[in-house]
Formats: sequence, structure tokens, C-alpha cells
Amino acid sequence: MAESSGTLPFFDTHAHLNLLPPELPARQAYDRAVSRGMAGLVNIGTRLASSRESIALAEELPQVWATVGIHPSEASATDAEAVNRLRELSRHPRVVGIGETGLDRADIPETPLAVQEASLREHVRLARERDLPLILHCRDAFAPLFAVLDSEELSGRRGVFHCFTGSREEAYGALDRGFWLSFSGILTFKSAQGLRDLLPEIPRDRILLETDCPYLAPVPFRGKTNEPALLPETLAVAARVLGEEPQAFSETVLANTRRFFAIEF
Ligand SMILES: [Zn+2]
Repeated sequence: MAESSGTLPFFDTHAHLNLLPPELPARQAYDRAVSRGMAGLVNIGTRLASSRESIALAEELPQVWATVGIHPSEASATDAEAVNRLRELSRHPRVVGIGETGLDRADIPETPLAVQEASLREHVRLARERDLPLILHCRDAFAPLFAVLDSEELSGRRGVFHCFTGSREEAYGALDRGFWLSFSGILTFKSAQGLRDLLPEIPRDRILLETDCPYLAPVPFRGKTNEPALLPETLAVAARVLGEEPQAFSETVLANTRRFFAIEF
């Protein structure tokens, strides 16, 4: 693959190309990222419609994979019919994960935790059934989320806490249960010193990187529309914080990504 000088290869493990604004079509964002060294991305479903859109993007663009799931903010939509639809969608060969699902007590107080939890359980069961990793969203809800995960017999490929911003104890809670942690542009924020202090403690082979675009653009683009082409900003900060040579760290994260999703690129 051609690579312009100075770029490091990277992979965006959590993108929402379908949510980019009209002035930045998915194809354009994808091409720009590839020209900066992107090896691929996983587009994340947040409801049935966006799960289908994620699969459509994976069919249209060469280095795109998809996940299917219903975000906790949409958890009331997770009825038996929806679960059957997700199951059907999850059989598509480009689907490499289930979610995003999870619990959120910070941003969506209007969705009761019990409703979110019921949706989460359906996702956990589907992930187990399909032997696919879970994409977990967690805000201010690690204890109840761990309780659900512990009560479901989850072995094999488990999952990732995407856009991790929890405490040291919460990080270990995830790692001890076999989960992975994914870091977003938040790692570059001035306010995220605690996260940067924590990063060196995370086993290198359980780290993933993501944009969560169009949200959470890294410094110096904070507040703007995020896109996969901006992931190298986060990669550079992570390598610096870890005291690692950027090329070597980039290769570590790519190897992690291949292992986590069981994909070749
Ligand atoms: Zn997301």
C-alpha cells in the first residue's frame, strides 16, 4: 500500500461515517483518511438503520468493516423483533462485532437503566451466540455494567470498552474480566491528564484506537467535525505518553486490531 512520507499506518476501530455532515460525504472522509495512511475502519451501528448503513458502507468501501447494534440511548427499541433483525444482520461476512451497546447514566437520563440493561443483555447473548466481540459504551455506569457482564456467561472474544474515560479501578475492572480498552481523541484533551497517566498501565496488547467520529475531534481540531483522517493526532499523543517509537506503537495497535476483530488487512 502506498504511504506518503511521515505518515504512520493506522486503523479507526470506531467510526460513524453515516453521521458525518452532508458537506463531508463518507467516501470523501474515507479517501482522505486512506491518503493519510489509514489501513481500514470499523463503522459502528447505533440502531437498526445505522447497522444496515454500516454494512452498506462495508460493501461499498474496500477497507471498511461493520458492527450491528442498538445504542443505549435507543435501548427501548430493542424488542424481540429488533433482536431478530440484528441476528440476521450479524451474519453478514463484513460484520465483525456486536454493538454499540452498554449503559449510560451521564448523557441519557431519559432512558431508564433497566431498559438499557435489558438491551445490553440481548447484545451480550447475541455476541456470545455469534462469537463476535462486544462494542461497549459506558458512562458513569461501570458497576452495573460489570454486574451484567458477570451474570452472563461470556467467554471467547469478549469485547472493548470504547472511548474509555473511566478511572484506574474501572480500567482494571474491564481488563481483569478480559476486556480491551479503546482510546479516542479525548486522550489529547488538556483535561485528560488522568487518562494519560493511566495509559502506561494498560497492557499494550489490549489497546485499540478510535475516532468515534463525527464526535470528539482530537487537539488541535477540538470542537470541529471529527473524521478518521484525524486519528494520527491521537496515535501520536499515545505513543509520546508511552515513550514508544511511533512506528513501533502504530504496528502494535494494528496487530491488536487484527487480533481483536479477527480480520486481515
Ligand atoms: Zn460511537
